[in-house]
Amino acid sequence: MSLRFAIPELPPEEMLPGMTEGEIIVVRSARRKKSISAYRQGGQIVISIPARLSKADERAIVPEMIAKIRAQEASKTPSEASLIARITQLLELHAPELSERPTSITWRAMRERWGSCTSVDGTIRISDRLKSAPDYALDYVLFHEAIHLRFFDHGAQFTAILSRFPQEERAQAYLDGYEAAENALLPPAL
Ligand SMILES: [Zn+2]
Repeated sequence: MSLRFAIPELPPEEMLPGMTEGEIIVVRSARRKKSISAYRQGGQIVISIPARLSKADERAIVPEMIAKIRAQEASKTPSEASLIARITQLLELHAPELSERPTSITWRAMRERWGSCTSVDGTIRISDRLKSAPDYALDYVLFHEAIHLRFFDHGAQFTAILSRFPQEERAQAYLDGYEAAENALLPPAL
Protein backbone atom coordinates (compact mmCIF):
# COMPACT_ATOMS: atom_id res chain seq x y z
CA MET A 1 0.00 0.00 0.00
CA SER A 2 1.33 3.41 -0.87
CA LEU A 3 -0.01 6.73 0.27
CA ARG A 4 0.11 9.71 -1.98
CA PHE A 5 -0.78 13.01 -0.42
CA ALA A 6 -1.97 16.37 -1.59
CA ILE A 7 -2.30 15.56 -5.25
CA PRO A 8 -4.61 17.91 -7.14
CA GLU A 9 -8.18 16.78 -7.70
CA LEU A 10 -8.24 15.07 -11.08
CA PRO A 11 -11.18 15.11 -13.43
CA PRO A 12 -12.97 11.75 -13.19
CA GLU A 13 -12.00 10.62 -16.68
CA GLU A 14 -8.32 10.77 -15.73
CA MET A 15 -8.87 8.56 -12.71
CA LEU A 16 -10.70 5.70 -14.34
CA PRO A 17 -7.88 3.29 -15.18
CA GLY A 18 -7.22 0.65 -12.53
CA MET A 19 -3.50 1.50 -12.45
CA THR A 20 -1.83 -0.11 -9.47
CA GLU A 21 -3.88 -2.74 -7.72
CA GLY A 22 -4.66 -1.81 -4.15
CA GLU A 23 -3.35 1.73 -4.34
CA ILE A 24 -4.81 4.31 -2.01
CA ILE A 25 -5.13 7.86 -3.28
CA VAL A 26 -5.89 10.74 -0.96
CA VAL A 27 -7.26 13.80 -2.66
CA ARG A 28 -7.30 17.14 -0.83
CA SER A 29 -10.17 19.19 -2.12
CA ALA A 30 -10.50 22.93 -1.55
CA ARG A 31 -14.20 22.63 -2.31
CA ARG A 32 -14.79 20.28 0.60
CA LYS A 33 -15.44 21.93 3.94
CA LYS A 34 -16.05 19.03 6.31
CA SER A 35 -17.19 16.02 4.40
CA ILE A 36 -14.98 13.07 3.63
CA SER A 37 -15.75 10.54 0.95
CA ALA A 38 -14.16 7.30 -0.09
CA TYR A 39 -14.90 5.12 -3.05
CA ARG A 40 -13.39 2.44 -5.21
CA GLN A 41 -12.24 3.33 -8.70
CA GLY A 42 -10.71 0.54 -10.70
CA GLY A 43 -8.14 -1.07 -8.42
CA GLN A 44 -7.76 2.04 -6.29
CA ILE A 45 -9.48 3.45 -3.26
CA VAL A 46 -9.86 7.20 -3.61
CA ILE A 47 -10.37 9.18 -0.42
CA SER A 48 -11.39 12.78 -0.75
CA ILE A 49 -10.77 15.01 2.28
CA PRO A 50 -11.05 18.76 2.94
CA ALA A 51 -7.90 20.67 1.96
CA ARG A 52 -7.63 22.13 5.45
CA LEU A 53 -7.72 18.82 7.34
CA SER A 54 -4.62 18.43 9.52
CA LYS A 55 -2.06 15.72 8.79
CA ALA A 56 -2.82 14.13 12.16
CA ASP A 57 -6.53 13.94 11.35
CA GLU A 58 -5.72 12.59 7.92
CA ARG A 59 -3.57 9.84 9.39
CA ALA A 60 -6.41 8.88 11.72
CA ILE A 61 -9.19 9.07 9.14
CA VAL A 62 -7.61 7.43 6.10
CA PRO A 63 -7.22 3.93 7.60
CA GLU A 64 -10.76 4.21 8.97
CA MET A 65 -12.14 4.99 5.51
CA ILE A 66 -10.15 2.18 3.91
CA ALA A 67 -11.53 -0.26 6.47
CA LYS A 68 -15.05 1.01 5.81
CA ILE A 69 -14.77 0.54 2.04
CA ARG A 70 -13.29 -2.95 2.43
CA ALA A 71 -16.04 -3.93 4.89
CA GLN A 72 -18.73 -2.64 2.51
CA GLU A 73 -17.20 -4.60 -0.35
CA ALA A 74 -16.92 -7.76 1.73
CA SER A 75 -20.56 -7.54 2.79
CA LYS A 76 -21.67 -7.11 -0.84
CA THR A 77 -19.56 -9.98 -2.15
CA PRO A 78 -21.66 -13.13 -2.40
CA SER A 79 -20.14 -15.90 -0.30
CA GLU A 80 -19.00 -19.09 -1.96
CA ALA A 81 -21.80 -20.97 -0.21
CA SER A 82 -24.36 -18.58 -1.66
CA LEU A 83 -22.85 -19.04 -5.15
CA ILE A 84 -23.41 -22.80 -4.85
CA ALA A 85 -27.01 -22.12 -3.84
CA ARG A 86 -27.44 -19.81 -6.83
CA ILE A 87 -26.04 -22.38 -9.25
CA THR A 88 -28.34 -25.06 -7.85
CA GLN A 89 -31.31 -22.77 -8.32
CA LEU A 90 -30.26 -21.85 -11.88
CA LEU A 91 -29.87 -25.50 -12.83
CA GLU A 92 -33.21 -26.47 -11.30
CA LEU A 93 -34.93 -23.65 -13.15
CA HIS A 94 -33.30 -23.76 -16.57
CA ALA A 95 -31.60 -27.14 -16.90
CA PRO A 96 -33.44 -29.71 -14.78
CA GLU A 97 -31.96 -32.54 -16.88
CA LEU A 98 -28.47 -31.75 -15.56
CA SER A 99 -27.84 -33.53 -12.27
CA GLU A 100 -24.21 -32.44 -11.87
CA ARG A 101 -23.51 -30.00 -9.04
CA PRO A 102 -20.28 -28.13 -8.29
CA THR A 103 -18.19 -29.33 -5.35
CA SER A 104 -16.80 -25.82 -4.83
CA ILE A 105 -16.99 -22.32 -6.28
CA THR A 106 -14.15 -19.91 -5.56
CA TRP A 107 -13.54 -16.27 -6.35
CA ARG A 108 -10.29 -15.93 -8.27
CA ALA A 109 -8.31 -12.96 -9.59
CA MET A 110 -8.69 -13.66 -13.32
CA ARG A 111 -8.47 -10.99 -15.97
CA GLU A 112 -8.53 -13.15 -19.08
CA ARG A 113 -11.60 -15.19 -18.27
CA TRP A 114 -14.90 -14.78 -16.47
CA GLY A 115 -14.95 -18.25 -15.07
CA SER A 116 -13.55 -21.73 -15.42
CA CYS A 117 -14.75 -25.21 -14.64
CA THR A 118 -12.91 -28.47 -13.99
CA SER A 119 -15.55 -31.11 -14.62
CA VAL A 120 -13.49 -34.05 -13.26
CA ASP A 121 -13.54 -32.70 -9.72
CA GLY A 122 -16.54 -30.41 -10.08
CA THR A 123 -14.72 -27.21 -9.14
CA ILE A 124 -15.64 -23.81 -10.53
CA ARG A 125 -13.71 -20.57 -10.35
CA ILE A 126 -15.28 -17.16 -10.93
CA SER A 127 -13.40 -13.97 -11.77
CA ASP A 128 -13.39 -11.45 -8.96
CA ARG A 129 -14.24 -8.81 -11.58
CA LEU A 130 -17.79 -10.10 -11.14
CA LYS A 131 -17.95 -9.18 -7.47
CA SER A 132 -19.59 -5.88 -8.34
CA ALA A 133 -21.52 -7.14 -11.36
CA PRO A 134 -25.31 -7.03 -11.54
CA ASP A 135 -26.99 -10.32 -10.56
CA TYR A 136 -27.99 -11.22 -14.11
CA ALA A 137 -24.35 -11.06 -15.31
CA LEU A 138 -22.99 -13.09 -12.39
CA ASP A 139 -25.81 -15.63 -12.78
CA TYR A 140 -25.10 -15.92 -16.49
CA VAL A 141 -21.43 -16.78 -15.85
CA LEU A 142 -22.42 -19.20 -13.06
CA PHE A 143 -24.92 -20.90 -15.36
CA HIS A 144 -22.33 -21.09 -18.16
CA GLU A 145 -19.78 -22.78 -15.89
CA ALA A 146 -22.41 -25.09 -14.41
CA ILE A 147 -23.26 -26.43 -17.89
CA HIS A 148 -19.56 -27.23 -18.32
CA LEU A 149 -19.91 -29.75 -15.47
CA ARG A 150 -21.66 -31.90 -18.12
CA PHE A 151 -20.49 -30.52 -21.49
CA PHE A 152 -16.82 -29.75 -21.94
CA ASP A 153 -16.95 -27.59 -25.07
CA HIS A 154 -19.26 -24.90 -26.42
CA GLY A 155 -21.00 -27.29 -28.82
CA ALA A 156 -24.64 -27.38 -29.87
CA GLN A 157 -25.84 -29.13 -26.68
CA PHE A 158 -24.03 -26.59 -24.54
CA THR A 159 -25.36 -23.53 -26.36
CA ALA A 160 -28.90 -24.92 -26.49
CA ILE A 161 -28.99 -25.04 -22.70
CA LEU A 162 -27.16 -21.74 -22.22
CA SER A 163 -29.69 -19.98 -24.46
CA ARG A 164 -32.42 -20.79 -21.90
CA PHE A 165 -30.91 -18.15 -19.63
CA PRO A 166 -33.56 -15.42 -19.72
CA GLN A 167 -31.25 -12.40 -19.97
CA GLU A 168 -28.49 -13.91 -22.09
CA GLU A 169 -28.13 -10.95 -24.48
CA ARG A 170 -28.14 -8.40 -21.71
CA ALA A 171 -25.59 -10.37 -19.68
CA GLN A 172 -23.34 -10.87 -22.70
CA ALA A 173 -23.55 -7.13 -23.43
CA TYR A 174 -22.50 -6.34 -19.85
CA LEU A 175 -19.48 -8.66 -20.09
CA ASP A 176 -18.48 -7.36 -23.54
CA GLY A 177 -18.85 -3.77 -22.38
CA TYR A 178 -16.77 -4.45 -19.28
CA GLU A 179 -14.00 -6.01 -21.36
CA ALA A 180 -14.07 -3.18 -23.90
CA ALA A 181 -13.73 -0.61 -21.11
CA GLU A 182 -10.94 -2.61 -19.54
CA ASN A 183 -9.05 -2.90 -22.81
CA ALA A 184 -9.44 0.82 -23.44
CA LEU A 185 -8.49 1.98 -19.96
CA LEU A 186 -6.18 -0.48 -18.30
CA PRO A 187 -2.48 -0.95 -18.98
CA PRO A 188 -1.78 -4.38 -20.53
CA ALA A 189 -1.52 -7.25 -18.05
CA LEU A 190 2.07 -8.17 -17.17
ZN1 LIG B 1 -17.17 -21.93 -21.44
